[in-house]
Amino acid sequence: MVNSKIQAAEENLLHVYNRFPVVLDHGEGMYLYDADGKEYLDFAAGFAVTGLGYNCKELNEALKDQIDKLYHTSNLYYHESCGEAARELNRVSGMDRVFFTNSGGEAVEGALKSARRYAHTKGSGRFEFIAMENSFHGRTFGAVSVTGHDSYRKPFEPLVPGVRFARFNDLNSVKELVNEKTCAIILEPLQGEGGINLASREFMEGIRALCDENDILMICDEVQCGMGRTGSMFAWQGFGVRPDILTMAKAIGNGIPVGAFAMTKEVAEYSLRAGDHGATYGGNPLACTAVKKVIEIFERDDIVGHVNRVAPYLTRRLDELVKELDCVTGRRGKGLMQGLVITKPLAEVNQRTIEEGLLVIQAQGNVIRFVPPLIVEEKHIDEMIVRLKRALD
Ligand SMILES: *Cc1c(COP(=O)(O)O)cnc(C)c1O
Repeated sequence: MVNSKIQAAEENLLHVYNRFPVVLDHGEGMYLYDADGKEYLDFAAGFAVTGLGYNCKELNEALKDQIDKLYHTSNLYYHESCGEAARELNRVSGMDRVFFTNSGGEAVEGALKSARRYAHTKGSGRFEFIAMENSFHGRTFGAVSVTGHDSYRKPFEPLVPGVRFARFNDLNSVKELVNEKTCAIILEPLQGEGGINLASREFMEGIRALCDENDILMICDEVQCGMGRTGSMFAWQGFGVRPDILTMAKAIGNGIPVGAFAMTKEVAEYSLRAGDHGATYGGNPLACTAVKKVIEIFERDDIVGHVNRVAPYLTRRLDELVKELDCVTGRRGKGLMQGLVITKPLAEVNQRTIEEGLLVIQAQGNVIRFVPPLIVEEKHIDEMIVRLKRALD
């Protein structure tokens, strides 16, 4: 049964993922179960997506109700929750105007277009982007063009022109690239795919100042690190450095495909206008219901407070592994977005964690990434450590 499902996938899907031979069937809270009923403790959250965990009844009910009512309208019309979802997302993200997309990559595309449109309206002649080494912004052409890793870029060149890469956390390397053509600087406040690298406060503040002095837009890509993961609703709030444009996705719909880019009203005034951008599905009633409900549950259950209570325990337990195990050489990250640097081959370790019933993700730089659902408790962290130690043995 399971083998026939894997075989059908192998024969029919394009081979762009190195999938593990696991056929997942259902989930509950912090756990996923395969078709044979084997349990997996989930510290991956489907790439930092399912912040509220699996089978969140309240969210499921809201989505089911909405499916029966209406789930597509197109953006020629308003629908019941588009305004509310937008208002709530603006409120918690500190932005003023939002556009709903279907993915993170699309959110990044929209952010880049917004910045170019801003420069165009102002007639500034600015069009260049400064992005960071080791960044990841998605797989669409614009997003790949600002992704700071050759392996994502090389096979698809030539890419969007006018992109230059600075070293993350090295303000001078950014300053050296700024000129009268620079339109925007894009960065992840906490790099995910690039190996769990946290921006320093000085770096965030320095970029903000650089942008202010030169009428350059600061774009924060919080597709992965946003929505509670770092201990504030959005990571920028933890630095007190507000971007001009913010991208979001992954956890904002808990797995319903929805992303967003948002901006301040000062940027919106000069940026995209009617006819400049669109998305047929973007912000449909199902996606907006998900966003609205997720934010409601986040606030009512104080998920951000919970992240701040439980994250120090994760940090402590991971630090212990660095001391205890020769093959673990460092810990990185913030909140519930953490990484362990290991010396063993990642693919092998990942295979072993799966055998032990633990899901984690790999990141660049031989890093094991821990991005559990945000409802994780200390007992799950204890259990994760036990399974991880067995896998690293
Ligand atoms: C995952 C990710 C993206 C791309 O999101 P998709 O939904 O896969 O298109 C963009 N930026 C960051 C920081 C991400 O982690």
